[in-house]
Amino acid sequence: MASLLERPLRAVILAAAESPAVQRAVNRYGMQLGARRFVAGETDDEFLAVARALNARGFAVACGILGEGVRDGAEALVAADRYCALLRTFADQGIDANVAFKLTHVGLDIDPELAFRNASRIARVARECGNTMRLDMEQSRYVDATLAIYRRLRAEFDNVGFVLQSYLLRSLDDLRSTLDLEPNLRIVKGAYLEPPSIAFAQKSDVDANYVRLVETALAHSGYTAIATHDPAIVAHVERLVVEGHLPRRGRFEFQLLYGISPQLAQTLVERGYRVRLAVPFGDYWFPYLMRRLAERPANLAFFLRGAFSKR
Ligand SMILES: Cc1cc2nc3c(=O)[nH]c(=O)nc-3n(C[C@H](O)[C@H](O)[C@H](O)COP(=O)(O)OP(=O)(O)OC[C@H]3O[C@@H](n4cnc5c(N)ncnc54)[C@H](O)[C@@H]3O)c2cc1C
Repeated sequence: MASLLERPLRAVILAAAESPAVQRAVNRYGMQLGARRFVAGETDDEFLAVARALNARGFAVACGILGEGVRDGAEALVAADRYCALLRTFADQGIDANVAFKLTHVGLDIDPELAFRNASRIARVARECGNTMRLDMEQSRYVDATLAIYRRLRAEFDNVGFVLQSYLLRSLDDLRSTLDLEPNLRIVKGAYLEPPSIAFAQKSDVDANYVRLVETALAHSGYTAIATHDPAIVAHVERLVVEGHLPRRGRFEFQLLYGISPQLAQTLVERGYRVRLAVPFGDYWFPYLMRRLAERPANLAFFLRGAFSKR
């Protein structure tokens, strides 16, 4: 979430992300510039090396192959196959990583049934491997379809999770309506540009809603992934843990994005919490990078500095 002053810049960056010219230029030079700070690489091997190194430092990993908005059924099948293969590799090599993916990567824009079948296949392999999988949450137009698919998966699997975004006005109701499923829920603030008719416009409201979602989730059965780099929210959760006599492991975990707030992540591991880093990789890293730049336009300076320091 950008501050109010940063909002216009955020909108400019997200709009630039739609430009084919910007996309071509960033795709060509981005990885050499600064993208590697946020993306583990383009190949499975590059990802696996990063995951092993993070495991060795005490972090669990959420593997995300970068991809979204797939319009071709064969491509959606390939994406699902890759997730299944990675889950088997994690089991074979003892890597502490699960998978999280966007339903539009496995076919939601083509046919919700295709996305459901692909997601079921991944859930089944994850279950065979004693592992979990999570549906990321995308733009608001996908929320109903994503929740519907989550509910159908949950009817068959107990190793599936989903995500709610605290910037959406509806999220507390969505949480309440899933509590009976003892959900494995990741709570985030939300990474897309949404209109004020459906989303809180003030950062303070987004943050307050985040806390409401966490408190509601932790007061019920299930497992909660608190996915934020916001030190104030982390401190609040730590207070809740002490006051509510919650165990540091078992009911919730902290999650952060690879490359963002690494010191906070390290501190949380040292305090004995389970901490999972979401590590994206793959060749379709452009939209992911643009969302990270838009969240914190200061990253743009970091990214562009790479253009000069490498020459
Ligand atoms: C594990 C994980 C999974 C996610 N999954 C989803 C998802 O499925 N759907 C979705 O819409 N969003 C997702 N997000 C993104 C999320 O919605 C926010 O956009 C993002 O986490 C920034 O919000 P914040 O909670 O860190 O709080 P903010 O208030 O935005 O930031 C708090 C502080 O964190 C640091 N920070 C935050 N972002 C950055 C950045 N890009 N670069 C450098 N420092 C930064 C800064 O110090 C900032 O002051 C995910 C985030 C995480 C951590």
